[in-house]
Amino acid sequence: MKQAYHRIVNLGWSCAQIARDWNKRGILTPRNYQNSENLRLGREGVSTKIDPGITWDSHLVRDILRRPTLMGYATQNGKVRMRDGMPVIWAQPLLSASEFKKLQKALDALAHGTRGPMVGNPLTGTIYHWCGAPMHSSMARTKRMKKGVEKLYEYHYLRCRTIGQAAAGKGERCSDVPTLFPVNYVKQLISGLLLDELGDVMVTTKTFVPGVDNTEEIETLEQGINNLSASLASVPAGSMAQVSILETMASYEKNLKALESQAVVPEHWKVESTGRMFRDEWEGDMDWEARSDLLERTGARLYLGGPREAPYMDLYAPRLLTQDMLNAPEGDDLEPGWLAKWHREVESRHSEFARKPNEQ
Ligand SMILES: [Zn+2]
Repeated sequence: MKQAYHRIVNLGWSCAQIARDWNKRGILTPRNYQNSENLRLGREGVSTKIDPGITWDSHLVRDILRRPTLMGYATQNGKVRMRDGMPVIWAQPLLSASEFKKLQKALDALAHGTRGPMVGNPLTGTIYHWCGAPMHSSMARTKRMKKGVEKLYEYHYLRCRTIGQAAAGKGERCSDVPTLFPVNYVKQLISGLLLDELGDVMVTTKTFVPGVDNTEEIETLEQGINNLSASLASVPAGSMAQVSILETMASYEKNLKALESQAVVPEHWKVESTGRMFRDEWEGDMDWEARSDLLERTGARLYLGGPREAPYMDLYAPRLLTQDMLNAPEGDDLEPGWLAKWHREVESRHSEFARKPNEQ
């Protein structure tokens, strides 16, 4: 869970990437985990069936990462249970309150991002149509005779999302040529373009160095003290209840003082070279799922349009790999959600570029 937090908040991963990673590593979904525990403990009258069809997807990952139970809080009917004016802790917290808040902010930023869904097509999120809409995958099946036997052939294509939408009666098709680009052709194309552009560029990693900031914890404690002092009014003076409330308040105040005495150290990003070139990363992993992670992580995007025979292209090179990225000042564009921001910039640059086709 810490790793997922780090990847989303500090490295800009999406929930879909996390889901793919968890599926690849065979991490069970909550229901399958529960059933496997039922089986292991020999529980009766409950399900012990592990359904391999139930896997992680971006929605399930997001759902899990939105739960206050990550902070170890007990919940009831979706609400955090309170005792003594403070959330009831029932389990080892996986994230601190401030980490949880940062994660929620990063998830909000992802939700407002511009990336399309990453379902079944490792190039979604990277390949866009000239008109600006993402390319979606489509499949055509044809039957052909081979050595006297009828065989089914499947062709995988990428096409402008508006083509599918128009076919489904939702909106108009874009005005660019409605070309179907075979997936394998696009894979070769982007592979060649990226290696030309970035093959010898050193890959850098960005790591978030958390600062010290107890603001969240301080707010929670202050809230707890306020809640307790409000409840003091309803207990008789000198009663056991009053003594116990006062004791709890005193301990909260002590914690509060300790937290307040710590200086706030600003968080920052550290950019380091991995010592590997883009070519090493790219060729070292022929698996397109892994490559798509690399593409998505780095923010590469290719706009593709026109006819199959003479397509036009507009490539935006991975930002993390560029030299000026290494020289970039800390802060600003490196905050959580930077990828969504970068994509917006790419979109405006491409739409400007696409408006003057004669100058290509
Ligand atoms: Zn289009």
